[in-house]
Amino acid sequence: VTYKVSVRPVPTDRHPAALVCFEDVTHLEQAEHMRRDFVANVSHELRTPLTAIMGFIETLQGPARGDPKGQERFLGIMLKEAQRMNRLVGDLLQLSRVEANERMRPTEWVDPVALIKSTVGGLAQLAEAAQVSVTCTLPEDAFQIKGDEDQLRQVLVNLIENGIKYSGQGAQVSVTLLAPSYEDRLRCQAITIRICDTGPGIEQHHLPRLTERFYRVDNHRSREKGGTGLGLAIVKHIISRHRGRLQITSQLGKGTCFAMVLPVG
Ligand code: ADP
Repeated sequence: VTYKVSVRPVPTDRHPAALVCFEDVTHLEQAEHMRRDFVANVSHELRTPLTAIMGFIETLQGPARGDPKGQERFLGIMLKEAQRMNRLVGDLLQLSRVEANERMRPTEWVDPVALIKSTVGGLAQLAEAAQVSVTCTLPEDAFQIKGDEDQLRQVLVNLIENGIKYSGQGAQVSVTLLAPSYEDRLRCQAITIRICDTGPGIEQHHLPRLTERFYRVDNHRSREKGGTGLGLAIVKHIISRHRGRLQITSQLGKGTCFAMVLPVG
């Protein structure tokens, strides 16, 4: 606990007196600490691809001058690094937008069944290229929940993409929407969307920290897969804006499940 102490003289008739105030500033200090950590992380994440690009430019100007094959290879790597920076800046902007409007409740109505179908459709090519099958289990009847369609789509994309990215060839990703019947919906007022994969799983001690910005289980693997380390932080803020909950369960060697519970109205 950190206190800010201030002393003020109190005018009295007889004895000299003073008022000593102790103000608990722990939360301010923690916020400042987090901000500094964040800036340091962002600088590091941007500098890594930038350093690689600068190194390859020097190689192209010098040793690789007369080597067209090498030039092509280096340009390919430079493009990949530039794309990584672009993804990072995009995710940073998105995170700051999501954080900025976290207190504003969404006002649109969204059909979650249609949203899941179109999102999974949009990721079909990625899944095919990774040789991962994505299946959906959805209720028959159409209904709506209150939400921000673009943001909910982003949550689905981030979770399904992670399932595809980290599970690898031959794995399965299943998307299940558990919606109560019409009567129950009126009573319990919440739906659950589960995204599970048959990938490598995550050790238990990582689970509570997964939604922190830039937290990665395996730094090298995440970078290799083009991850920015911000996907689940964005997911957490969007779900919180919808007054929902995110639950992560995982078993090593069996797979990982992300379940979000979203209020209907
Ligand atoms: P990244 O951009 O690195 O994927 P995320 O915030 O989306 O960042 O995820 C944080 C970390 O959680 C990842 O780096 C990865 O180590 C781990 N992770 C996320 N989803 C899965 C999954 N479905 N299976 C295994 N590990 C996962």
